[in-house]
Amino acid sequence: TDTNTDTRSGSGGLRTPIVAVLGHVDHGKTSLLDKIRGSAVTQGESGAITQHIGATAVPLDVISDIAGGLVDPDDFDLPGLLFIDTPGHHSFSTLRSRGGALADIAILVVDVNDGFQPQTIEALDILKRTQTPFVVAANKIDTVPGWNTQEDGPIQASLDAQSDRTRERLDERIYSLIGELSDNDISSDMYWQVRDFQHNAGLVPLSALTGEGIPDLLTVLMGLSQRYMKEEMEIDTTGPGSGTVLEVTEERGFGTTLDVVLYDGTIRTDDTIVVGATNRTIETDVRALLQPRALSEIRTEKQFERTDEVSAAAGVKIAAPDLDDAIAGAPVRVVRDQTLDAVTDDVEAELAEIAVETDENG
Ligand code: GDP
Repeated sequence: TDTNTDTRSGSGGLRTPIVAVLGHVDHGKTSLLDKIRGSAVTQGESGAITQHIGATAVPLDVISDIAGGLVDPDDFDLPGLLFIDTPGHHSFSTLRSRGGALADIAILVVDVNDGFQPQTIEALDILKRTQTPFVVAANKIDTVPGWNTQEDGPIQASLDAQSDRTRERLDERIYSLIGELSDNDISSDMYWQVRDFQHNAGLVPLSALTGEGIPDLLTVLMGLSQRYMKEEMEIDTTGPGSGTVLEVTEERGFGTTLDVVLYDGTIRTDDTIVVGATNRTIETDVRALLQPRALSEIRTEKQFERTDEVSAAAGVKIAAPDLDDAIAGAPVRVVRDQTLDAVTDDVEAELAEIAVETDENG
């Protein structure tokens, strides 16, 4: 009954890149995630997107459907994109993985009318510090005076539909964004002008409300991942799992559980895991792996369904004894090929790193 195997297990050892959304409050982070999820549901066949715990997986064929002619699935071998559902840089900066940010790639959302705001700059600083590649979503283009909306279309179609005056107004806003990025030591340009994405950030004008430009955003994210991150996405999909705790939550019938984003390997119901806690590590045995129940079954009483195994990249809820003082942002490791001591040492080392980071950032 598990319809999710494809997106969760990746293909041929390449996992799904993990995408985070950052930006100033009210600039449209939540709307953007909602729009991407909504478009995926509308465009794809039923069950095309998969709701994970704390994340949404959009498989390559659905991205290709949404992107129209912009993405040819034959050009890609990464299985799709996994969007972390909680936007914001506070979650982003606490979410680490071995040696870096949990997210492989980010969307920096900026309201074209409002421009750079304090949290935009904070977000940008974090992206620079963690060396996370990012795309700038120049959001709310539909609010430019005189805008002629082309619902859900690629940005070129929208630009073609505007009067000269309206295009000028948009251009002014975009150029002021490019200037603000430059003031913060980021060179950027319209994404279709960018040749070298490693040294230049691509801007995608879009509207999270009308969906115009979303095809372009997904195309750029997919292209960037494929071009610059493919090697990092090569994992041993059946190896022992590694993940990061998003949240520690109480669930009726399960006690304290961990919402985890798995970025490497697999986790199974018979696994022993080591989890970071306040000043210590927890060794425990998985009691259940839980996923959200499919939307069509949402009326049933139970919120979750059990699964035997989950492969990276994926979000999953782990039920196990002794999790009470586990902490958000902490590492989770499956003990399988290595000794318990070796895995515990790893988790302790990572916890120490997180503590240093937290101190540095006040
Ligand atoms: P967040 O705080 O960054 O998550 O921002 P929200 O997604 O909650 O958006 C803040 C407000 O801006 C809401 O009222 C949204 O409806 C509105 N909004 C977001 N994106 C757009 C857009 O592209 N166009 C317009 N007109 N409004 C938008």
